[in-house]
Amino acid sequence: APVIQLKGLSKSFDGKQIIAGLDLNVNDGEFLTILGPSGCGKTTVLRLIAGFENADAGQIIIAGKDVTDIPAEQRNVNTVFQSYALFPHMTVFDNVAFGLRMQKVAESEIEPRVMEALRMVQLDKFAPRKPHQLSGGQQQRVAIARAVVNKPKVLLLDESLSALDYKLRKQMQIELKQLQRKLGITFIFVTHDQEEALSMSDRIIVMRSGNIEQDGSPREIYEEPANLFVARFIGEINVFDAVVKERLDESRVLANVEGRHAMIHCKLPVNSGDKVKVMLRPEDIRLEEINNGEDGNGLIGYIRERTYKGMTLDSVVELESGTSVMVSEFFNEDDPDVDHSLGQKVAVTWVESWEVV
Ligand code: ADP
Ligand code: MG
Repeated sequence: APVIQLKGLSKSFDGKQIIAGLDLNVNDGEFLTILGPSGCGKTTVLRLIAGFENADAGQIIIAGKDVTDIPAEQRNVNTVFQSYALFPHMTVFDNVAFGLRMQKVAESEIEPRVMEALRMVQLDKFAPRKPHQLSGGQQQRVAIARAVVNKPKVLLLDESLSALDYKLRKQMQIELKQLQRKLGITFIFVTHDQEEALSMSDRIIVMRSGNIEQDGSPREIYEEPANLFVARFIGEINVFDAVVKERLDESRVLANVEGRHAMIHCKLPVNSGDKVKVMLRPEDIRLEEINNGEDGNGLIGYIRERTYKGMTLDSVVELESGTSVMVSEFFNEDDPDVDHSLGQKVAVTWVESWEVV
C-alpha cells in the first residue's frame, strides 16, 4: 500500500485556489520529486502533508492512518527546508539530539542514535563542533541528520539543496540519493531544478498552477513529455508544426514537418490531416554538410550560431522557412563536420524520436 495518499486535496489563500483537488499516491521507500516553476504550489503541498497548513478539502493518509486533522508533531513526517536553521549556540550533537530530547527519549538511547545519524551523513567526527565551524554543505548534512534521527516514515525536503553552490549541490545530490537508499525512508523532494529532479528521482510529478501535468519516471518525463508545458520545462526543445499523413503502427505516425516527411513517435489518437505540434530534443539532431548541387537528406538551413560547450558543440540553424533549430552534437574533434562555420548551408537530420506533444 502507498505510504502517503492525498485524495482531492484543496487549498486556497485569500480566496485564490492554489491546490485544486490533488490526488497523489507515494509508494513506500520511493524517492519522489515534485518539480515545477516557482509559485506553482510545491511548498504548499509539503506544508499540507507535514500539517503546517490545514487543507480546505480532501484527505491525507499516512501509513494507512487518516492524519488530515492530526497535528504536525503526530504525523511521523519530518521536513528539511532550504534554510536549515541549526541552533548556532549548540554543538552538532545537540542539534541532532534536540528532537529526541523534546520527545523525552532516554539519554542512554539518544547517544547511539545521534551518532548513527551523524555517521550516515559522515559527520560523526564533527559531533562536538558548533555550526559556524562547518561548511555550508556540512551544515546541510547536520540538518538532514536531525531530520532522520527519529526515523520518520517520510522525509519532506523543500528545495533543500538550492542554497548550495553548483559543485557542492551536485555532490549532495548523489549523497542524498545514497542516504535515502540506505535508510529506506520515503523521500518527497521539492525542486524547481529539472536536472536535479532527473538525476535523483524514482518518480517525478510535474506541477503547474496546483495541478499535476505529468507523473512518471525521469525517462518518461524527458523522452515522452505529456504536453508542451512539460516538454519546455524539462530541458531544451525544438517545437515544429506538422501535419499527420498516416498512422504506421501503435506508436508511430508519418507526418509532414516543414515540408519533409518524418516518422514521429505518437501514442495519441491522431488522424490523417490533423495539425499537431512535434518536438525534437537538440541532442537528437545531426547536421550534415551539403555538397554543391545536392539537396541533402534533411531540412535545409544555415548555421547562425556555434557554441563550444566542452562535451557538446551547440548550434542554432535557421531553416529556409525562418524557423530556428537548436542542435547539440557530441563534440568529437576528429569529426570533419566540426568545421562547420557560421553561415554555412547544412542539412538538419534526426535520429528518430520526434514526439507529438
Ligand atoms: P512554490 O513552492 O511552488 O514556489 P508555494 O506553494 O510557496 O509555491 O506558493 C504557491 C502560491 O500560494 C503562491 O502564489 C504563493 O504566493 C501562495 N501562498 C503560499 N503560502 C501562502 C500564504 N501563507 N498566504 C498567502 N498566499 C500564500
Ligand atoms: Mg517553495
